[in-house]
Amino acid sequence: MNPYRGRTTALTTKHGKGRAISRPLRMVLGLTVQVEAKIDTDLLGTFTGEIERVGTPSEVAIRKARLGMESSGLPLGLANEGSFGPHPAISLFMPTDHEMLVFVDDELGIIVVESCLSAETNYGYHTARSLNDLEPFLRQAKFPSHALIVRPNDGLKKGFVFKGVIDFVTLEDAVKRCAVASADGLAHVGTDMRAHVNPTRQKIIRHTACRLARRLATSCPACGTPGWGRIRSEPGLPCEFCHTATEMIKQEIFGCARCRYTEAKPRSDGRQYAEPGQCPYCNP
Ligand SMILES: [Zn+2]
Ligand SMILES: [Zn+2]
Repeated sequence: MNPYRGRTTALTTKHGKGRAISRPLRMVLGLTVQVEAKIDTDLLGTFTGEIERVGTPSEVAIRKARLGMESSGLPLGLANEGSFGPHPAISLFMPTDHEMLVFVDDELGIIVVESCLSAETNYGYHTARSLNDLEPFLRQAKFPSHALIVRPNDGLKKGFVFKGVIDFVTLEDAVKRCAVASADGLAHVGTDMRAHVNPTRQKIIRHTACRLARRLATSCPACGTPGWGRIRSEPGLPCEFCHTATEMIKQEIFGCARCRYTEAKPRSDGRQYAEPGQCPYCNP
C-alpha cells in the first residue's frame, strides 16, 4: 500500500488547475488535493511579465508549494509551473509546453519533481493593426475556445493589458486600443497560457499529474521511499555502422527521492543503435 492513501496535500494554484491535478492523484494514490487558492502566486512572477520570475521553474514551483503548506498547515504540498516556447532540442520553430509538477513531503523530507514536454500547445503570438491581420493566427491559437492576451507591441503600459480575451468584440476593441497606444501602431496579441482559459494546457497538466501519481506509487528498490522514477537520460547511443557514440539517448537513469541509489535502464523504445545520419563520424 502506498503511504499517501487517505492523506491530504495542499495545492497552491490560482488558475483553476485543481480538477486536472486532483483526479489522477485521487484515483492512483487515494491522495486528496486541497486547493489553496487565496495565495497570490503572481508575487512569484507573472506570465505577462509585470513581475519577473526569479529562479528555475522547479525553484519557483517549490516556493509556491511551500506557500500552500504554510497557509494550510499541511506537511504535503503541490505546485505546477509551465514554461512555453521553442525547444532547442526539438525544433526552433515548434512551440512546446513544458509542464512541471513538484510534490513536497516534509514528513519524509523529499521533493519529487515530474515533468512533461509536449508539442501539443497553442502557444504563439502575432502583431496586428486590426482584426484582419490575425486570420491564420487565431486558428492556430484556437480562439475563441482558448483565450488571448492583448497589449501594445512596444511594451507593457498601465491600463493596456487585456487578459482572458475570449470573444471577437472584446478582441477587436483591445487590438484597436493597444495599436493606437503603441509607438509602432501595432497591438501584440499572444495566447493566454493561464490554465483556466487554456484547455490544451489543462490536458498536458493532467497528463503530468498522471505521471506524478504513478511515480509516487513507485518506491525505491533500495530504501522503499516513494517517488522512484527517471531522473535524467544519458546520450551516447552507438552508431550502427561505426559504433561511435552519438548525441541520441542511450539509457535512462532512474533514481530515488531520498537515497543515492540509481539504476540505468535501456531506452523504453528498445532502440540499440543510432542511424549513421545522427553519427558525428559518418555524417559530420
Ligand atoms: Zn557512424
Ligand atoms: Zn532510496
